[in-house]
Amino acid sequence: MNTSIAFLGLGHMGSPMALNLVTAGYTVTGFDLSSAAVDAARASGLTVAGTAAEAVTGADIVITMFPAGRHVIDAYRGSAENPGFLAIAKPGTLFIDSSTIAVDDAKVAHDLAVEAGHRNIDAPVSGGVVGATAGTLAFMVGALEADFALAEPVLAAMGARIVHCGAPSAGQAAKICNNMILGVSMIAVSEAFVLGEKLGLTHQALFDVASTASGQCWALTTNCPVPGPVPASPANRDYQPGFAGALMAKDLGLALDALESTGVAAELGPSAARIYRRFADENGAGQDFSAIINDIRLHSET
Ligand code: NAD
Repeated sequence: MNTSIAFLGLGHMGSPMALNLVTAGYTVTGFDLSSAAVDAARASGLTVAGTAAEAVTGADIVITMFPAGRHVIDAYRGSAENPGFLAIAKPGTLFIDSSTIAVDDAKVAHDLAVEAGHRNIDAPVSGGVVGATAGTLAFMVGALEADFALAEPVLAAMGARIVHCGAPSAGQAAKICNNMILGVSMIAVSEAFVLGEKLGLTHQALFDVASTASGQCWALTTNCPVPGPVPASPANRDYQPGFAGALMAKDLGLALDALESTGVAAELGPSAARIYRRFADENGAGQDFSAIINDIRLHSET
């Protein structure tokens, strides 16, 4: 059977992901509310419908790649004037949401889909636009076993690593927990480099010690926030992302919501969320998140 896929949200990530599904042989119809995104997707060779309803009608699978949870829930639900995706889709459609959204929103989206007679999984990604284009994304999946089995080949056409993290919403949970580790560790590494500078240590000396000692972590050895020790890190190209500060601020905001709703006695996660929010609001939104080191220097005493 030729599986037909509606792909909604043809932005930075969605458009290249949809193209990889086409390359893998799926029949894909895309749609985006933004005419610029539609034009770019068409120019890249995607078939784009005139309306969301047209894309969703008759599709076996509906994938969403939207900015935030409210976009997903609103699109699923629809309004009095515009029926939502859940009302338009044929019974038993598999809904895959690959947007990064709050864990609680993922639960709401899942329940709405199931109540409407559909299947739903959350499958947020890491790997950025580079991974979306190369088809090497990592998918973190929250799904019932049977739904995961249905989705896996489709995800495999867009990604290199697919981890079934548990029940619905577990994919979003894994994503924000991982990114909270990343945000906190990048701040820790950056604070250590700035402290080293003040103490007269060279970047290379600190790197040579920490990268082979107990300070070793991805933020240091792959995405090193100072130029030099790791030539491929964004610090060597003026902090062009990579992983943008705006996205780190967003993901830490989602982690903060989850910390608050679960009552975890966390201190570093909320601090990291506050630091990255300030960074994104000042001028870090479009820079790689490792440019937080400049924010630390800026706010340090001279
Ligand atoms: P983007 O803003 O480029 O794309 C989102 C698109 O969704 C926009 O074009 C918007 O017009 C469209 N949209 C919103 N509501 C819609 C609706 N109801 N119907 C149709 N289209 C609609 O964002 P992006 O960078 O592609 O990111 C998408 C998601 O992936 C986000 O949740 C983000 O956090 C996550 N993510 C992004 C990256 C990255 O590097 N960009 C990495 C990992 C995860």
